[in-house]
Amino acid sequence: MTLSERDRNLIWHPYTQMLLEPESIGIVRGEKEFLYDEQGKRYIDAIASWWVNIHGHSHPYIAEKVHEQMNKLEQVIFAGFTHSPAVELAERLLKLLPEKQKKVFFSDNGSTAVEVAIKMALQFYANQGVKRNTIVSFTNAYHGDTFGAMSVSGRSIFTKPFNQYLFDVKFIEPPTAGNEEKSLRQLEEIIQKHRVAAFIFEPLIQGSSGMLMHTPEGLNRLLRLCHCCSVLTIGDEVMTGFGRTGKMWATDYLDEKPDIYCLSKGLTGGVMPLGVTTCTQSIYDKFLSPDKHKTLYHGHSFTANPIACTVALASLDLFEKENTMEKVKRIEKRHAEFAKELKNNKKIKDIRHRGVIIAIELQEDCEETSYINPMRDKIYNFFISRGIILRPLGNIIYMNPPYCISEESLDYIYDNITQFINN
Ligand SMILES: *Cc1c(COP(=O)(O)O)cnc(C)c1O
Repeated sequence: MTLSERDRNLIWHPYTQMLLEPESIGIVRGEKEFLYDEQGKRYIDAIASWWVNIHGHSHPYIAEKVHEQMNKLEQVIFAGFTHSPAVELAERLLKLLPEKQKKVFFSDNGSTAVEVAIKMALQFYANQGVKRNTIVSFTNAYHGDTFGAMSVSGRSIFTKPFNQYLFDVKFIEPPTAGNEEKSLRQLEEIIQKHRVAAFIFEPLIQGSSGMLMHTPEGLNRLLRLCHCCSVLTIGDEVMTGFGRTGKMWATDYLDEKPDIYCLSKGLTGGVMPLGVTTCTQSIYDKFLSPDKHKTLYHGHSFTANPIACTVALASLDLFEKENTMEKVKRIEKRHAEFAKELKNNKKIKDIRHRGVIIAIELQEDCEETSYINPMRDKIYNFFISRGIILRPLGNIIYMNPPYCISEESLDYIYDNITQFINN
């Protein structure tokens, strides 16, 4: 039996309607931007395996570092104990992040990094006896699939069966080009009416909502308002972090910086699960007390796993060793050229790009959201048959590739996108 057949009998896959899509492609090997299935067919991983992979698959330097660490220390409880990979990673991350970020809290993935950020923000006020309990978010935000993360995400097909169990969040429209004024007014109104503790946002690019892009100035104005009104700002850089937008952090495009950062996905170069929530000294200080009620009671069995931290360190090494940000610049330039080429195509409603991300929104009548839009499967299958992994969000084709992707692979993907559009 093939992997696909054995899988089908046993495994329930994420984001998959198992009745309609029971077949999973069995991948046996990865190298650079390529994945190989059990029949030997090659695929270009144009979405970096769900936006995580940076340096390419099975990078030998990362493998070597993992092997070394495996022989030293594989796991240790992180309450009451610490270890070199975690300490070094905290040091290096804080050096890369804006100066005001002073403390690092580890968890396992993007959703948990968000959960921790929400708890930090709410308890920051609770510990001071200040009644502020409202959280503000963007209408179509995506911050993860656990209950807290779902609560601060836009209500959608993902959250529908659970909406009654999600806590109340006030939503504002994102500051996309032309919508900045409206977005700001909505935030002002909410801050006047409610006791707002925090505003959580995906900076500049909202991934799951279709690579929706904000203007930096629009976002700056929202953050400035929050900072004036003592509303904590949570920058969810889970997707945008580690170079995706052309700079190390999307917030590098902004003058105003968030008080809390959530990192995951590219944190380990997309190799191991790991999440990090960082905060300013003044947030951390409000948890310091002889009163144990003020402790942040949150943790996971694998918090700051030494292997995961080692991989994150190896990934940061590679940023220097391989001039990774230069690769990002190269892709950004290619995307810009491609966008120009397609600009006046009548089948395209909008084309936008920043960093390694390009999104091509196709004209269509169907208003359905991403996962139930019939166009989605048509696009997905077209590219899979040509050995390209692209998972469109409804009528939006996007690329978010590993930064090591070759010119040939970029050409091949652009060609196929053009062919699909003109068909
Ligand atoms: C993917 C994502 C998350 C959730 O991360 P997981 O590791 O999938 O739990 C949170 N926020 C953003 C912006 C994301 O793109």
